Amino acid sequence: MPERAGAVGSLTYTRRMPVPDDAAFMRLALAQAQAAAAAGEVPVGAVVVRAGEVIGTGRNAPIGAHDPTAHAEVQALRAAATALGNYRLDGCTVYVTLEPCAMCSGAMLHARVARVVYGASDPKTGAAGSVLDLFGERRLNHQTVVQGGVLADACGELLRGFFQERRMNGNPHPLRDDALRTPDAAFEGLPGYPWAPNYLSDLPALGGLRMHYLDEGPRDAPRTWLCLHGNPAWSYLYRLMIPVFLAAGDRVVAPDLIGFGKSDKPKKDGAHTFTWHRQVLLEFVERLDLNKVVMAVQDWGGLLGLTLPMAAPQRYRGLLVMNTALGTGDVPLSPGFLAWREMCAAKPDFDVARLFGRGNPQMSEGECAAYSAPFPDRGHRAALRAFPPMVPEHPDSDGAAISREARAFWQERWQGQSLMAIGAQDPVLGEPVMRALSKLIRGCPEPILLPQAGHFVQEHGRPIAEAAVGHFSR
Ligand SMILES: [Zn+2]
Repeated sequence: MPERAGAVGSLTYTRRMPVPDDAAFMRLALAQAQAAAAAGEVPVGAVVVRAGEVIGTGRNAPIGAHDPTAHAEVQALRAAATALGNYRLDGCTVYVTLEPCAMCSGAMLHARVARVVYGASDPKTGAAGSVLDLFGERRLNHQTVVQGGVLADACGELLRGFFQERRMNGNPHPLRDDALRTPDAAFEGLPGYPWAPNYLSDLPALGGLRMHYLDEGPRDAPRTWLCLHGNPAWSYLYRLMIPVFLAAGDRVVAPDLIGFGKSDKPKKDGAHTFTWHRQVLLEFVERLDLNKVVMAVQDWGGLLGLTLPMAAPQRYRGLLVMNTALGTGDVPLSPGFLAWREMCAAKPDFDVARLFGRGNPQMSEGECAAYSAPFPDRGHRAALRAFPPMVPEHPDSDGAAISREARAFWQERWQGQSLMAIGAQDPVLGEPVMRALSKLIRGCPEPILLPQAGHFVQEHGRPIAEAAVGHFSR
């Protein structure tokens, strides 16, 4: 008798309850997910169903609600428990578009829900089998049945589309808290600099800092000029040479070192080290997969740049070297450099535009001002303070050992062509320093001497670029 009654009861139950249409309820959860997306939240939605009836809905809302627990499932559980007047959700099924996290899985176990049905798997935080399996943990769960993969494609597509759109519309290079970014307006209408900016922030060494670079000319050009500036300049320094290289059909890549130009500027002077800047450049060259490179260097562009080719010699076929040095730490720094370093320490807020104007009477006021543009205030000038003392001075200074290795590379292993141009008026890294350097570069021909040019040789760069285009074979 009792058995029969049970069977009758079971039959009655089955008749009253249609076979649960998981897909239909998942569509309701998807509608909740879409509503979350419309509110700017990660699109996850959930519904709680009991006896074929929706008794609670929820959408992901942690941002809007200022509530880290406001996941779709928790919202839906709350609504359902309120509707039932009971914190236990016996006999209920939760439909959710994404595999629940540990928190939500825990909440559902507390609520004693009978069944959990989810759409897309979450390989990052899923706790229903992907990362953890709380429901499969016998010590925690004796009743909840889990099923995944219901409308998984639609659920996953909604998430993918949401994140893709956010990447496109949102800022792809958010500014780090410990860095500054010179406003774009500072760079508007600079004379002789018409090129579009390119940015990178996902090199490992950058840690999210945004690095700016110019990248002009065909990607498959027979030659790529990698133009490296120094302190306190930026890629603007190469504006007279770039058109010559492009007219020859070549590609030009000119990054702004971090702390300079349109690149982000760490707030702390101490963020800058030789090794870090070198690493950024190494990763930059690899990321852009630069080949057939003729590297143009001057000042810090050379201190750092001259240490690059030995790390990937097959990428480089030429060196155009202007007033610079190798910081090997076993040769005394020149008196001219020591005076410059002293000046920077004594007058850390020196006028950058005037520095350029002083040595280059041919430059317009607007051109000089373009060198001040990246540094609207003292806060943006950490690199200007950090770089002079960063030149390796002692054998164990940061960068000295790698610079000695580089010296050996240029003397003994360098297979490419070289060309040197010297700004004769440079009191810091002028003719004596450069002639000594030329002896360290295997196969370096007699330098081109520019009697009018000073330290920033590139401000007389047009004839140098023309000579270089002819000098370096393609
Ligand atoms: Zn969750």
